[in-house]
Amino acid sequence: MKLLHCPFCGGKGQLKKYNESGLWMISCSNNCGVLMTSYCKIPTNDLKIIDKEIKNNVITSWNKRYEERREPLDVCVKLEQINQEIIKENKQ
Ligand SMILES: [Zn+2]
Repeated sequence: MKLLHCPFCGGKGQLKKYNESGLWMISCSNNCGVLMTSYCKIPTNDLKIIDKEIKNNVITSWNKRYEERREPLDVCVKLEQINQEIIKENKQ
């Protein structure tokens, strides 16, 4: 799974394993202070499944956060374009 950039500063995300019980976390390589982790949503005692689950979940959460952040920015750009068009029309 591809790791997207930091949802806050756009820095590169770094996936790390915190300990052997399968706690994965993603931090920002820009040291902006962002740290994300997750948990296993499947009821199991199998450490291999827990490890895989947490790794997948943390990447999914991180990427989702980035995608959600990008949307409002796109909307802002569009609104700005519409504003410019209105200003132009009013001048004519
Ligand atoms: Zn960052």
